[in-house]
Amino acid sequence: MSLRIVVTVKYVPDATGDRHFADDLTVDRDDVDGLLSELDEYAVEQALQISENSDDDVEITVLTVGPEDAKDALRKALSMGADKAIHVEDDDLHGTDAIGTSLVLAKAIEKAGYDLVISGMASTDGTMGVVPALLAERLGVPQVTLLSEVSVEDGTVKGRRDGDAASEQLEASLPAVVSVTDQSGEARYPSFKGIMAAKKKPVQSWDLSDLEIEAEEVGLEGAYTVVDTAAERPARTAGTIVKDEGEGGKQLAEYLASQKFV
Ligand SMILES: Cc1cc2nc3c(=O)[nH]c(=O)nc-3n(C[C@H](O)[C@H](O)[C@H](O)COP(=O)(O)OP(=O)(O)OC[C@H]3O[C@@H](n4cnc5c(N)ncnc54)[C@H](O)[C@@H]3O)c2cc1C
Repeated sequence: MSLRIVVTVKYVPDATGDRHFADDLTVDRDDVDGLLSELDEYAVEQALQISENSDDDVEITVLTVGPEDAKDALRKALSMGADKAIHVEDDDLHGTDAIGTSLVLAKAIEKAGYDLVISGMASTDGTMGVVPALLAERLGVPQVTLLSEVSVEDGTVKGRRDGDAASEQLEASLPAVVSVTDQSGEARYPSFKGIMAAKKKPVQSWDLSDLEIEAEEVGLEGAYTVVDTAAERPARTAGTIVKDEGEGGKQLAEYLASQKFV
């Protein structure tokens, strides 16, 4: 038996960098360095663990939709141990929202062939956490989201979802889409051997025409969400200093009460 896993990995702007909006109110991606979304490293890790614990022949494909530099995210996932990569890139993707992104990912996943899709719980930039559910809907397969433990056995994916009040044991028959949380297990660091091996692993590039998607279905034109205005966050102001001259505790309590912290 063989198991084909597709892991969706997003290339995100580095949150520690200075980020700006472009004139059309999209994020200026040329202006800032990017990296593999940290939360997607957990998804790659779970795919690798499923492969290591399986007697089946497991093939792990990492998939990204993003600009030229998004190849860096694929390379990192390949150096962690994924087998091959797919990069969907097209100028007409500029401004694509979550619904458009899910269309492109779903078409690419169908074209690649899959038994199991593993996504992160949310990207570290958009943080909507909606793409896995949108993917399951588009692919017409079950979704088991926000898992902190995941395994595959006899054509079934199983996992544990931890909530505030209870932990649920969930399962779905394959093919299926799952998303994993940052509690699913520390992601491994790429080894030197892994980094060298990644250079030789295949990276396939597809554009919209390869996926039979029209330009109007994606990009700013196809987006269901429109950004009307955007403003830089104001610079932080200096904090309030309470000097203790005998009544420090009282003053502190009054300050906290005035800010509605207590
Ligand atoms: C070429 C391009 C241009 C874009 N332009 C804009 C723009 O102008 N303005 C704007 O606001 N947003 C833009 N986006 C971002 C895009 O809207 C988001 O990727 C999308 O809305 C998903 O939302 P999210 O990041 O909150 O995903 P979430 O739902 O939080 O993501 C959950 C999981 O889905 C998967 N996933 C999400 N996105 C991708 C991806 N691109 N590739 C692979 N896996 C993914 C990951 O596994 C992730 O952990 C652009 C994206 C691309 C690829």
